[in-house]
Amino acid sequence: MPEGQGPIQTLLTEFARLPGIGPKSAERIVHFLLHGDRRVAVGLRQALAAVLERVRPCRECFNLTDGGELCAICSDPRRDPAVLCVVETPRDVTLFERTGSFRGLYHVLGGRLAPLDGMGPDRLTFQPLVERVQRGEVREVILATSPTFEGDGTALFASNLLSGTGVSVTKLARGLPAGASLELTNSQILADAIEGRRAV
Ligand SMILES: [Zn+2]
Repeated sequence: MPEGQGPIQTLLTEFARLPGIGPKSAERIVHFLLHGDRRVAVGLRQALAAVLERVRPCRECFNLTDGGELCAICSDPRRDPAVLCVVETPRDVTLFERTGSFRGLYHVLGGRLAPLDGMGPDRLTFQPLVERVQRGEVREVILATSPTFEGDGTALFASNLLSGTGVSVTKLARGLPAGASLELTNSQILADAIEGRRAV
């Protein structure tokens, strides 16, 4: 909390930091919370507290979980542990799950390499990925980073790391709009990209 600010100003500042919310929207939200139904503000406080307390990265894949140490996907015995889909964020897991066509497990890197912005390999979960593969159950790793310059660099780095492990490394099929985030890609295109994956 910035020092010397009253609680209302602090709340405005915090809301304005959220994606898609500028100073004007922040003002509208804060005004609503202060002057509208108090139950909305109380519900928001409780929901935020619960999320902060309970949601954490899955021990295995680093997707978010609000249950035990393993996320719902890693604890599902019907999933195929031989195929790992490597993605940048938990949001990407949601996108691939929405396609309904992937039955393997995930590995969430926690972002993409951007050395100029201080995002080096040690900030991402490459080491746990290599350790997972070295345990021997994984036969194929699908690199499903975003089709951007940094996403491609991240995939290249991962494939170099995995090159000595004997695992088969594949990439999503071409056809994803270059430069776009996976978020902007519809489910059918994503399903096709995974279906048509090719060796790196
Ligand atoms: Zn998991």
